Amino acid sequence: MKFIDLHCDTLSECYRLNKNLMSNNLNIDLKKISEFKDAILFLAIWLDDIYLDRPFENTIKIIDFFYDQKNKYKKYFLSNKHKFILSIEGGEALENNVDNLDLFYDRGVRLLTLTWNRENNLAGGCYCSKGLKKFGYEILERSKKFNILIDISHASKKTFWDIYNFNNKNILATHSNSKTVYNHIRNLDDDQILAIKSCNSIIGLNLFNEFLTDDKNAQLIHVIKQVEHFLKLNCENNICLGCDFDGVDNCLPVGIKNILDINKIYHLFKINFGKIIADKIFYFNAKNFLKIKEII
Ligand SMILES: [Zn+2]
Repeated sequence: MKFIDLHCDTLSECYRLNKNLMSNNLNIDLKKISEFKDAILFLAIWLDDIYLDRPFENTIKIIDFFYDQKNKYKKYFLSNKHKFILSIEGGEALENNVDNLDLFYDRGVRLLTLTWNRENNLAGGCYCSKGLKKFGYEILERSKKFNILIDISHASKKTFWDIYNFNNKNILATHSNSKTVYNHIRNLDDDQILAIKSCNSIIGLNLFNEFLTDDKNAQLIHVIKQVEHFLKLNCENNICLGCDFDGVDNCLPVGIKNILDINKIYHLFKINFGKIIADKIFYFNAKNFLKIKEII
């Protein structure tokens, strides 16, 4: 089975907890990934509060850690069947300097989530009503220079529409569900989903229990319900995976312990929606998008 996952926090967790990427007790490691025929993963650099005193410097340290690991476990990085792409979750990392975007791009970062939940100097996150700020506009302007993707997951509603209206060329939602199916502030309403679809862009389904149901023990049926709604909105070519592994304290649907268990989700999708749609969600929608955007 092939898959592309637009969002996991594994790299940041390995750095924070002093673990290695090859083999660990997290949701994802290179050994587990090597079980899949073809896999592309976006590794998010997210800064815990303890790193916010020097966000730029600490982001560079995590990037250096990634390349050290890459060097150390070369054999897992050599196959062109398994790719890892760096992303930054939270524009705090830029420390108010537009040129830092160029620097991150040069170090391999191909996706920027402008805000995490908290507000920063680029924009308001989903728990506030503020939109895009002056520095956020400057970053969007600079991002036109490269093929760097702009992620609207975590953005406030106003930030979403400000980004969409200013430059929606490279937007996507890496790890967000439908608000119509489950009303959570992190999920997207139908207008937002259709706006992303109108850009021929993609939305990654998130497996975090909190974004699926009130019930602490989410079931895979809640994920199925999400897909059903996206299909109802004719988003067959727009949904993919953004599982949020290692970013949700193991609060995943019953039966999902780590990345190896996504096989179970694939089989369920196949049973419920057929192989063609299951393959699109797991691989082809994201692959087509990333190819068009020249990320892969
Ligand atoms: Zn996130």
